[in-house]
Amino acid sequence: MKRFLTVLLAGLLLAGTVPFAAAADTLAVDPTWTILIPAQPTAAERFAADKLQSCLSEVFGTQIAVSSQAGEKYIALGAASACDVSEIADNGYRIAVIDGNIHINGTAQRGLQIAAYRFLEEFCGRKVYTSTLTVLPKSEQILVPADTDLVYEPFFESTDTDWKSPSDTEYSMANGLTNGSRRRLSAEMGGSVDYLGGFCHTIGGLCETEKYKDTHPEYLALHDGERTTDQPCLTNPDVLEICTKNVLKILEEKHDPNAPLQIVSVTQNDNFSNCQCETCKAFEAAHGGKSSATVVNFVNQIADTVKEKGYDNVAIDTFAYYYSQEAPTGIVPRDNVIIRLCSIQCCFSHPLDRKQCNGSFYKDLTDWAKICNRLYIWDYATNYAHTCTVFPDFGVIQRNMQIFYENNVKGVYVEGNYYMSSCDTEFGELRAYMISKCLQDPYCDLESEVAGFCDAYYGPGGQYMKQIVDTFTQHAGSFDNELHIYYGSWSCMRPFTSAEVRRIDGLWEQAKQAAETDAQRQNIERSELSWRWWKACAGKGEFSFFSAERGDNKEQLYNDLLASGATVFAEFFSEDLREIAPEVIRYASPDDWHVGKENDAGVQRQMRIERLAERFPPLFGLVAWFYTLTHS
Ligand SMILES: [Zn+2]
Ligand SMILES: [Zn+2]
Repeated sequence: MKRFLTVLLAGLLLAGTVPFAAAADTLAVDPTWTILIPAQPTAAERFAADKLQSCLSEVFGTQIAVSSQAGEKYIALGAASACDVSEIADNGYRIAVIDGNIHINGTAQRGLQIAAYRFLEEFCGRKVYTSTLTVLPKSEQILVPADTDLVYEPFFESTDTDWKSPSDTEYSMANGLTNGSRRRLSAEMGGSVDYLGGFCHTIGGLCETEKYKDTHPEYLALHDGERTTDQPCLTNPDVLEICTKNVLKILEEKHDPNAPLQIVSVTQNDNFSNCQCETCKAFEAAHGGKSSATVVNFVNQIADTVKEKGYDNVAIDTFAYYYSQEAPTGIVPRDNVIIRLCSIQCCFSHPLDRKQCNGSFYKDLTDWAKICNRLYIWDYATNYAHTCTVFPDFGVIQRNMQIFYENNVKGVYVEGNYYMSSCDTEFGELRAYMISKCLQDPYCDLESEVAGFCDAYYGPGGQYMKQIVDTFTQHAGSFDNELHIYYGSWSCMRPFTSAEVRRIDGLWEQAKQAAETDAQRQNIERSELSWRWWKACAGKGEFSFFSAERGDNKEQLYNDLLASGATVFAEFFSEDLREIAPEVIRYASPDDWHVGKENDAGVQRQMRIERLAERFPPLFGLVAWFYTLTHS
């Protein structure tokens, strides 16, 4: 069973700020202690010792020693410890007090290293909230309960998300991100789970469909009566041979036998043109009529060859996505095959096991879980069509991660706002932290993690920020309470009354007034851009359709967006935010800024009404409000 076995005294970390004598059932660690390592330490032992030494020295304000000679009191690491970890799963660890000293040991490539981070988090209060914001309280001593026996086993073998800070190695080590796609974890850190070759949609390249399209059209998918390079035919033996050859070539060039796990992605291209030739159709008909059957059969054969060649730490990855999303019958993926199931069509105001809206995904999840030992998830946590507006999915992040774990899922990638450097106007760093912490432990105390994050990132007014996030979560979804990743602002949150808008505006003001540093104030104002965007689309607050200043306030919002560094406002609308025409900014809803220039008839009509509303607010404000309501 994966779990934290931890016995911690409440308020322990706070106690560190005021020196006092430790009780008999508590160890007081101070600079007289030694970090004990073997005479010939491994790279992992050396890394863990260095991490503990640098951080504990910072806590104490004076250097703590690393030695292979046991002093009177010590923190023993790895082979120098008396911790038995023989029963602990790979990349897990144990932190225990034994005979009055502290013993830390881990398994496989990274167990010991992440145990050092855990020790610092539990007993020193060290939190890595963003790549530039680490909290580490100073103290003359740290207190460790004498009955501490803390065991951790990873919930997932591969964890990954986008945003900004998660690409940082220190952030990833502290918060449990292990996949190498967005971060480089060195060998001494335990390495990462890497995709060799491409990360996704690789099958066209691996099967060389372009190269053979004229000489061997039968290698291509037959779709709607025509051969297309969109996908290959997966039952053609020559295609299998070409793809296998290219997979082996990648392994010959890039394989690392010491890595924890390496993955070669053999994943369908991003379209719906799967092969419908007679052989493919017959194979699928014999396996529940599911298009995933040919996919699984194809990658199984590649996986067999890879295993025969002795690549024991390699898995072949494929998608369960659109046409391949439903599990087949009568065929199961090999143990070294990863099935990556995508939640792209799901609702994110409700957990993924809610039958009414996510029933078909949940069925696919549980169907795959029954036949697949390496089920991975490609999950989503951003509004890709209107990235600047509030995307209130905070209420499902933790439960969804628990659902994954409880359904035999071994790896999770949460696709976030990967273009955040061009559009950081929402709650990106907060959501990244929530996701990371839940990937590290889906059963963590997320409420307390969010509160701690808000206090550190947004400042002493963090409580108001948390209230705002909680309020948005309660209002998540459209009139039918559903929330999808391409919704417009009107559909992301149910309307607030004017009194509620004033109350929420008041919370933002209180948060800003409490801020103590420029960074905290900027963090609040950056997140507030999403609320202002939402209000501007919904015609609320200072953007009321009955306000003559509505246009001025939209211009101010636009200028503040540019000042924040935003240059795009969505994933696919690649329109540069800096090139929006002034009249579009003033008279179109921000959700429509990207179409205003294209003379969309509806947007043009809205702009004409808003021009009138600006001149005759009471009269045309009502028309503008009604028009927006019926056309959003
Ligand atoms: Zn075919
Ligand atoms: Zn729903």
